[in-house]
Amino acid sequence: MSEREVDVVVIGAGQAGLAAGYFLHRAEQQFVILDAEHGPGGAWQHTWPSLRLFSPARWSSLPGWLMPATADTYPTRDEALAYLAAYEQRYALPIERPVRVLSTHADGARIRVVTHTGNVSAGAVIAATGTWAAPVHPQFVGLESFTGRVVHSAQYRGPAELAGQRVLVIGGGNSGAQIFADLVDHANVTWVTTEPPVFLPDEVDGQVLFEQATVRYQAIKEGRTPPPPRSLGDVVMVASVRRVRERGLLTSCRLFQCVTEHGVVWSDGNAEEVDAIIVATGFKPALSALAPLVQPDDRGRLTMDGLHAAAHPRLFPLGYGDWTGFASATIIGVGRAAKAVVEAITKS
Ligand code: FAD
Repeated sequence: MSEREVDVVVIGAGQAGLAAGYFLHRAEQQFVILDAEHGPGGAWQHTWPSLRLFSPARWSSLPGWLMPATADTYPTRDEALAYLAAYEQRYALPIERPVRVLSTHADGARIRVVTHTGNVSAGAVIAATGTWAAPVHPQFVGLESFTGRVVHSAQYRGPAELAGQRVLVIGGGNSGAQIFADLVDHANVTWVTTEPPVFLPDEVDGQVLFEQATVRYQAIKEGRTPPPPRSLGDVVMVASVRRVRERGLLTSCRLFQCVTEHGVVWSDGNAEEVDAIIVATGFKPALSALAPLVQPDDRGRLTMDGLHAAAHPRLFPLGYGDWTGFASATIIGVGRAAKAVVEAITKS
């Protein structure tokens, strides 16, 4: 196995890895981006075809180059993919794929990154592995006895394979709402949420959410009382969800008591047979490639010391959510976090 030395290894070439690459390139660092995928676009490659971003094109842009205007306000998955592919070419980012990082080890002040194609010794590592590879599966009573299909939103590929079936979609966020809308005309589908879903006004989109979150963030930073939070998990009324609402079909019911061999028992005691359960219940950071250097806590996060992991001063997690930079799990937000990380790497 070969071993080479670089200033920085970036693990992952999704939007977070590309944003890091942009600033590393500008800082004239010698770096490589290792990505387990066969093609560009990170997790967006694996989402269902009808997915719409909840942020308009201008608010779905990485540093340096705006996403080109899209036909609809909200970009499609394919438009996001095309943008990310063009972005990495535009800046000639040094991406190697498919290369899977298997483990990460302390090597004095440096870090040894072990991959299936060889080892790399890095002066610093930016971990940008996203969350898609670590879907959260809820623990429903009786789920292990269910003989139908249980599909996480990460594996949902569109309505064709569920046509004509009795399906429950579980989850009150944007994924749950969009998958429910996707299935309404193809399956006998029921939307199940723990709480009544919160629908944003039609004119509130990802841009407004981001601006509101920024105002809140600034207020907290400056010791002022922040305005009440608005969750990025609230449902943005993209066209497919609006259409279902206009037909009077955008309804949901609360969680069942338990799952049985062939279905569920609702809270009123009524049993119902279902063929498939789709769980749109989110993700946690995909950090297994960082072992044994660091271990996540119970929430799936790393203990941080500023921008780097407390366990190693040269390991910089990026893009996993607010604990790795404000709004860093969004396309528009990750640019600011990536800039700060690269500044920290080059100044220390
Ligand atoms: P990813 O895109 O997951 O990229 C990580 C990369 O790392 C992948 O290519 C992966 O293969 C690679 N990798 C992982 N492990 C290894 C390893 N061991 N070795 C090598 N490579 C590895 N955000 C918005 O801003 N606007 C939206 O409208 C929006 N809509 C969303 C809708 C849904 C349904 C979801 C789930 C998310 C949405 N997001 C949106 C959030 C966010 O944009 C995505 O989660 C985004 O994909 C995260 O980017 P990332 O670069 O952090 O991770």
